[in-house]
Formats: sequence, C-alpha cells, structure tokens
Amino acid sequence: MTTTTKAADAKKLPGADYFTLGEPVADTKAPGGPIEQKWAKRKFEAKLVNPANRRKLTVIIVGTGLAGGAAAASLGEAGYNVLNFCYQDSPRRAHSIAAQGGINAAKNYRNDNDSTFRLFYDTVKGGDYRARETNVYRLAEVSANIIDQCVAQGVPFAREYGGLLDNRSFGGVQVQRTFYARGQTGQQLLIGAYQALERQVAAGTVKMYARHEMLELIVADGKARGIVTRDMVTGEIETYFADAVVLATGGYGNVFFLSTNAMGCNVTANWRAHRKGAYFANPCYTQIHPTCIPVHGETQSKLTLMSESLRNDGRIWVPKKAEDCGKDPREIAEEDRDYYLERIYPSFGNLVPRDIASRQAKNRCDEGRGVGPAVKEYDDNGNEKMVRRGVYLDFSDAISRLGKDGVAARYGNLFDMYAQITGENPYETPMRIYPAVHYTMGGLWVDYDLSSNIPGLYVTGEANFSDHGANRLGASALMQGLADGYFVLPNTINDYLADALKFPAVDASHPAAVEALESVKGRIDKLLSINGSRTVDSFHKELGHIMWEYCGMERTEEGLKLAIAKIDELQAEFWKDVKVTGVNEDFNQTLERAGRVADFFELGRLMCVDALHRRESCGGHFRAESQTEDGEALRHDDEFLYAAAWEFTGTGEKPVLHKEDLVYEAIELKQRSYK
Ligand SMILES: Cc1cc2nc3c(=O)[nH]c(=O)nc-3n(C[C@H](O)[C@H](O)[C@H](O)COP(=O)(O)OP(=O)(O)OC[C@H]3O[C@@H](n4cnc5c(N)ncnc54)[C@H](O)[C@@H]3O)c2cc1C
Repeated sequence: MTTTTKAADAKKLPGADYFTLGEPVADTKAPGGPIEQKWAKRKFEAKLVNPANRRKLTVIIVGTGLAGGAAAASLGEAGYNVLNFCYQDSPRRAHSIAAQGGINAAKNYRNDNDSTFRLFYDTVKGGDYRARETNVYRLAEVSANIIDQCVAQGVPFAREYGGLLDNRSFGGVQVQRTFYARGQTGQQLLIGAYQALERQVAAGTVKMYARHEMLELIVADGKARGIVTRDMVTGEIETYFADAVVLATGGYGNVFFLSTNAMGCNVTANWRAHRKGAYFANPCYTQIHPTCIPVHGETQSKLTLMSESLRNDGRIWVPKKAEDCGKDPREIAEEDRDYYLERIYPSFGNLVPRDIASRQAKNRCDEGRGVGPAVKEYDDNGNEKMVRRGVYLDFSDAISRLGKDGVAARYGNLFDMYAQITGENPYETPMRIYPAVHYTMGGLWVDYDLSSNIPGLYVTGEANFSDHGANRLGASALMQGLADGYFVLPNTINDYLADALKFPAVDASHPAAVEALESVKGRIDKLLSINGSRTVDSFHKELGHIMWEYCGMERTEEGLKLAIAKIDELQAEFWKDVKVTGVNEDFNQTLERAGRVADFFELGRLMCVDALHRRESCGGHFRAESQTEDGEALRHDDEFLYAAAWEFTGTGEKPVLHKEDLVYEAIELKQRSYK
C-alpha cells in the first residue's frame, strides 16, 4: 500500500503534527455518464455468476441488522452459501430494532412534488455536501423498491383513511416522504428482513452464528478471506473462511459512552479491518440527535431517543427569561416563551435538520435558558458548575388541534415511554429534550460497489461512510441499510465473486489465519492478565466524557489537542490497570466490553485527529473557529471538499490521510440555509 508522505502539503493542514498525507484515493467503480443512468449501467457492466457456480461460493456476512440481515437473505436467496454472524442471542435483536421514526422513499404519494432527484438533493444538502453524489443518487433511486419489497413481506406500515400507505415529514425536508409503523419502524422492518433470513436458514443457504463476535479479519494474499470469532458462550476462538467478507456491523456512537445506541454497539469489526489495511473515512462525523430525554444523573449508562417524528407536531421552546426556567412550564405565559426554531428558521421551523436543532438547543442552555434539573459539568479549568440541559417539546397546540386521541394514535408508544422513564405525563406537561449522540456518519471507506480498499471486503449500512456526509437526515439510515442489503450489494458483489472460483483455497493452516487467531488469543490473555484496580466501565465513561466534551457538538483546536493527550494517558492506564474478571472459557461480558473499549481508545483518538485537521464547521461537526457572524456553521469548500480516508500505520504511529475529492456534477454546491 502506498503511503507517500507529502510533508509540505500536510503541514498546511491544522493538526499536521498528528498525521502524514498520502496519495489521494478515488472511487473507480461508478461509471461515467448522466447520474440517472449510472446504476443501470453499473448493473449491466458488472460480471455475473451463474446459479450453478453460486452454490460453490461462500460469503461471510457479519451483522444481522437491516444491512446485514437483508444482504444475507438476498445472497442466500440468490444461491450463495452465506455464513451470518451476530453477537446477540438472535439476529432479531440487532440494534436496527431500536429505530422509531421511519424510512424515507421517493414515492410522491402526497403529491407534494417529491422525486428521486429531490430525495437525492435533500440528502446531499442535508449532509452538508460531504457525501458522495453517485452513491446518494442510487440510494434515492432504489428507495421506492424498498417500500414495495417491505410491503410484500407484510411490514405493517401506517395507512391513511383510504388504505394507502401514510407518510409523515422529518427534519431537513419540506415534503412528506417518510413511511412509518407507529414509533416502531425499525422493529417492523427488521422482522421483515428476519423472516426472509430465516427462510434461507431453513433452506440451508444461510448458516446462522448468533452469539459469535468477530474479533479479527483474515487477509490472505491481499484478499479478505475470513474472520476469527469468539463464541461468547463457551469462549472458543474459531476461524471461518469464505470467498468474500461483508461487514454490516453498525455504528460506533458508543465511543461517547452515553448515547442512544444499544449498549453492545461497538467498532471492533471495523477497527480490526482498519488495522488490517481498510481505510476509515470521516471518523469525526457524529450525528447528535436533538430529541433525546436529557441526562439526569451520574449513574446513567444510556440515553433514550424520542423519535424525531415528534417534531412534526411538537413545538420547541424555552422561557424568554432565565428567571422563569425553574417554573412549571404551564405557568409561563405564551408571550414569555421563545419558540426559537420557528423564530430563527421560519421556513423549516421545528423541522430544521438535526445538527441545527441540536446546536440551537445547546446555545439556549449555554445562555442560561435551559429547563429541567441542573446537572454537574466542568469548565475548562476543571471547576464544577451546574447547568440545566433541557428544552421543551410541547404538544399542547397539537392536542388542541388533533385531540388527545389523535396525538396518541401518532405517538402513543413514545409518550408512554417518556412517562415511564421520567415519571411525567407528556400529555399534560411538555416533554423535556436535549441532544445526544445518535449515529455515526463515518465508517470504513467504500467505493460505489461498497467494496473497501481491501479486495473482497465489503461494508454496508451504518458501518460504511458513503451516503450521509457530515450530517444524516432523519429516516435515511434505515433506507441505506435496506438499499445496501436488498439491492446494492447483491448486484455489485457478483463482479468480484465471478473470479473467486479461481482463488486458491485458504484454510486454518494459512499463515494469515494462524497470525489472526494467535493475535486474538494474545489480546484476550493480555486483557485477563492485567488484573488491575479499575473497572472497564469506569474507563469507558471517562473516555466518553473526553469525547463528548472535546469532540462532541462543538470542537476547538485547543480542545482537540487536549483530548488527544488525555486519551493517550487514559489508554496507557487502561492497559496497566484495567480489571477484567472471570475467564475466557465462559460467558464473560466484562471481557467482551474490555475488548471493545480497547478499540474505542484507538478510534476516539483518530476521531480527534480527523476533527482537528478539518478546520471548518460542517453538518454535526461545529468548529468554534469557523462560524458566521450570527453564529451559524461556516463550511470551507475551498479547503475541505473531500472525504478523509485514514490509513492505519501501526499502534502509536501517525495515520496517513488519503483524500477523496468530492465531485458534484448534478448538484450545485451552496451554503446550507434553512431560514
Ligand atoms: C434509538 C434509535 C432510533 C433510530 N431511528 C431511526 C429512524 O427512525 N430512521 C432511520 O432511518 N434510522 C434510525 N436510526 C438509525 C438506524 O437505526 C441505524 O443506523 C441502522 O439501523 C443501522 O443498521 P445496520 O444494519 O447498519 O446496523 P445494526 O442494526 O446496528 O446491526 C449491527 C449488526 O452487527 C452485529 N455486529 C456488530 N459487531 C459485531 C461483531 N464484532 N461480531 C459479530 N457481530 C457484530 C450486531 O450483532 C448486529 O447484528 C435510529 C437509531 C437509534 C439509535
């Protein structure tokens, strides 16, 4: 792999002491010609594998969420042998199940002028022009097929009075294109994918390995040919081999410790592949979701999302006067309320994109107009301060308009969930919400075929980087997961597999497999032998604090440098003083978490380096040094119109930055404005 260092060029970038600059990287798979014809052209040009040969080929798919489950079902149905892995006790429990709000598709059922091009346009604009145009256009193009497929599977999408599928709107758009199943869209879509998957399991094309965690990638003779897993019940370390490996392992938001992600979400599979040569793109692009239940104490380990769909009918406000912040909100007169999103962004109002809604909520609380209980925070000098971190999401207008039953029909399960968690009745008093880490737009670098730069290693869903740029619009992750799994990967991976019958056999005796197996065993032994004094969770929590404070909603050069130093220090302490109880040969969640937190240290550091070098505000990434006079995010297309693909060069070594220029041919670049 070339890692030509261009020291002079690198020096021009902020944080140049922390990395070197390598050769640019480019997507070579998207064909030329008009954007509307590229996908059809690529499908036609890609090599095919005839049905009889498919039976001779094996594909490993790690992940059973919407991206992995859909891919495993589709490739199994196509006749390949699929080995499908997940760490949960059932594929049915993948994190996709948590998605609440909905899934986008350009069907124009509402006759509000929606189209493939508009969905494409909104997604690129919403991502602040940092996504790859070709991939996003294809996503918009296949979105309509997803809904047809899911309806055929029996997914119970909400229907309107006449029986047609209903739609609602989501932040960042002015049309209603979001298909939903109450507040359980992810769960219902996953059940659809799971049924299709189980059908293949029964047919024998898919072999399911639940409770197996991938801990290493096997790259033999330059190609991804297998994985090393740990059986999470018996501790057995095993190797599995295939002609291609697909990672559909979701996002890494748990690097922040507190997030809306399932507790088990981690970066291990992607990070192991990164260490084996796969580029990791845009790691610092984190999405902060504006409508989460605020943090309420020090012992919390999870944050709960209230679906973004609530912003359709809920109005967001804070008191105009700081002295009203402790009052019962029902006693604050209408003229004393600041509906700040409606005031600042009249065209989009409460439906501005997530990064904007999040930042404005933070601004209001920083100004001292937050509501709810005050929580402990520290200033830059380490001094303790108490800040109210909440804004109101108020349904009183909606209840007057639609009636309580009307509101309950749309959002009932979310209201129940809020009441159970907070002990407050949201039908009577406004909900309190605050931004939280929710989704990660960074991930392994892939080309148009969803292939990483390691031949034979494909990456789908939240685990890759390509479709959302610097900010993901609501309801577009489910769309991407299913687009990748049902429609894109099954059509692109053939092109690679068509040659796979000629690949030399690889088995457990191959030096690459032996090395991978030994390194997994060595790492587990090391973690178990430290026997220090601090729990894994205490390290994770401290890392999370650092990440949120310095690499969260707002970042500065000084803060990021400080964060890198703190991470280095904490990581060194982890490897000296962590206490991992129990043994390998048993169900051992402390051991599982320790391995994941060890990877989070390395990822967290790379996130800070990535954030440091990108001195522009972009999407969910707000650089304090780069803002307009009225405090809005200021992008710098002249300097940063590229995806940053990082190459691993060794523990403690500087990573290499490979830039992929982002070329916009179908869409004109503009500063985003939602006013
Ligand atoms: C609370 C919440 C609500 C959301 N609501 C919406 C919404 O309304 N609309 C929307 O579009 N998006 C929503 N999202 C985002 C969306 O749910 C996710 O981005 C998407 O489901 C990710 O799907 P995935 O298939 O890529 O990964 P996941 O569903 O996370 O699946 C990952 C899979 O990989 C497996 N895995 C991971 N690592 C390993 C390993 N090392 N070894 C073995 N297996 C492994 C897991 O077992 C799992 O099967 C929401 C997210 C959250 C947190």
